Amino acid sequence: MQTEDRAAQIRATQIRATQIRAGDRRALARAITLVESARADHRAEALALLANLRTPAREALRIGLSGTPGVGKSTFIETFGLMLTGQGLRVAVLAVDPSSARSGGSILGDKTRMERLSRDPLAFIRPSPSQTQLGGVARRTREAVALCEAAGFDVVLIETVGVGQSETVVAELSDLFLLLLAPAGGDELQGVKRGIMEMADLILVNKADGDLKPAALRTVADYAGALRLLRRRPQDPPGFPKALPVSALAQEGLEKAWDDMQALARWRKANGHWARTRATQARHWFEEEVRRGLLAALQTEPQRGLMAGYGDRVAKGEITADAAAAEMLRLLGRKA
Ligand code: GDP
Repeated sequence: MQTEDRAAQIRATQIRATQIRAGDRRALARAITLVESARADHRAEALALLANLRTPAREALRIGLSGTPGVGKSTFIETFGLMLTGQGLRVAVLAVDPSSARSGGSILGDKTRMERLSRDPLAFIRPSPSQTQLGGVARRTREAVALCEAAGFDVVLIETVGVGQSETVVAELSDLFLLLLAPAGGDELQGVKRGIMEMADLILVNKADGDLKPAALRTVADYAGALRLLRRRPQDPPGFPKALPVSALAQEGLEKAWDDMQALARWRKANGHWARTRATQARHWFEEEVRRGLLAALQTEPQRGLMAGYGDRVAKGEITADAAAAEMLRLLGRKA
């Protein structure tokens, strides 16, 4: 009976995988729901599916996009996405956001955001899940990216609102990282954390249109100057990272930005950085999962009881914190 169950499950996984590879959007949406599920049986099915889809027919270009609310991310994704689908490219849009950091609802939950793109048969937009923990969101997004890649999307856009750690998560999931900024006075340059600037491959100063255009061009010049001061990374060809003006609304500068993204991707592929970065990212996520698993193990018995027991003894002064921790770790090592 058990063997029959297992055989049925393997068949179900194979059918799912075939549907996803064939570009079946409903199968893709269902698979993303599956990887979001916390149920143990769903988790097992999700892992089997991801293992089956491990080697996509070809790699997508994964583009991370970060920017504060109001900077024009959804407008940019809509016009940029439509420009790409207009060239016959298939585009998926995913979001990374701890929902606790948002005032209401999920980032892409509002269907009126990117309305035209969401109706485009070449596009697939997935709202962010209602999960609060960054670690959980990161895993789910990473797996959703893998599913979209297996489904043959040419470009996977991964969007995040700039809330602290989420940029790092997106950068670790992306081949290229874009930072979208609004025109500003020179003093606001300080507002962008150095760490985030260092992650960016392209800084796009949006709203370079109408009355805002002169300020946008000044902002581009300010950031171009700031980028020149950063240490050159091995994965950058001459001239990168760079700052460019764009107008998502007036649809200006988007072709230039896309040309630069493609040029950068080509250079990195030709120079071995593309594959090396992907390998480093895979190692990073493996280590993150192990760390997560170890932390989760501390929440279950008997580890939780051991922890509480040692904690009580430390509190009573029967044993020092360091000695108790060392003993606890030794016990964990023996169990592992
Ligand atoms: P998000 O919160 O980052 O997703 O920003 P939205 O895309 O919702 O845009 C916020 C506001 O900025 C909206 O009123 C947009 O119409 C406006 N906006 C977005 N892109 C541009 C642009 O290129 N130029 C101008 N002038 N306004 C824009």
